Amino acid sequence: MKKHFIVLLIQILIVSYDCYSQTTDLIQEARDITKGGYSIFDKTMVDLPWIEIEKSIKNGAIVLLPVGVIEEHGPHMCSGPDIYQAYISAKIVKSELDKKGIPSLITPPFYWGIADIANCFPGTFTVSESTMKSLLSDIFVSLNKWGVKNVIVFNGHGEPKHQDVLHQSMIESHKALGINIYLPVDKNNINRYQNSDFRDCIIPVDYKPQISIDCRFDNCHADCIETGTMAGFFPSLVDTVMARKLEPTDFRGRPEFKSPGDVGQAWAKDARSVTPLGYFGDPASFDYEISLINYMNDSKSEAGAIEIFFKDK
Ligand SMILES: [Zn+2]
Repeated sequence: MKKHFIVLLIQILIVSYDCYSQTTDLIQEARDITKGGYSIFDKTMVDLPWIEIEKSIKNGAIVLLPVGVIEEHGPHMCSGPDIYQAYISAKIVKSELDKKGIPSLITPPFYWGIADIANCFPGTFTVSESTMKSLLSDIFVSLNKWGVKNVIVFNGHGEPKHQDVLHQSMIESHKALGINIYLPVDKNNINRYQNSDFRDCIIPVDYKPQISIDCRFDNCHADCIETGTMAGFFPSLVDTVMARKLEPTDFRGRPEFKSPGDVGQAWAKDARSVTPLGYFGDPASFDYEISLINYMNDSKSEAGAIEIFFKDK
């Protein structure tokens, strides 16, 4: 009996050590991703000579296009989290595809999207729908001209108008040029595109469940998750001491808001009066280790989905 107990104890210790070392490996791997400095050009086409780009395209390279905006993210962070995160996704996916011998290239990150909601804060750039559409279309025209067949977009900005214009541009450029343009989408959310032309632009992703972080109140923008992700990948761009002191935004007890929808609407109309410091959520509860693990797992799930998608094609 005693012997069985000792064997069981050793087994538990081995399993726990295994989980611990997998977790620390993942955090180290995440940290290594930004070893090239914080330049969003590192490992992109910008840092390659044209002959290498041409060779890679001839080998059938999948092109990864990070899309975001430059937008305020509270008093504790820089204004680039959306494009930094989209860029990091592309970079992790590229590194995973490299391991499988699947050629890929990352375009210069695209950060001239639509950020109307926070445009009242200095440092938040927004463009018109036609500007964003034309710019994306010109990028697809160039890629098509060089022989690129497949493009995958990584979008880091959730504003509805920005997403609509992005989706429309992808559909239109695909129809006009024949180039395939995809977006990785959670397989549980693809039904909503069933009756839209966008259904042909989807790579379904089976994401692992996230490790939860104990964030207080509703988290939406520059919150505990984004703060943790940025603090993990780009520590020099986050004032973590200030972040820990920020009070969470709490709209639940406020009489002017009857539902979360009311808050969202008021925020979209006048962000500065609803969130005067520019964050919506609870930055102070950030946990950069958990955020890094979640981010790495999500990006690896995307890389896995891309590999399967192109194998089946
Ligand atoms: Zn953001």
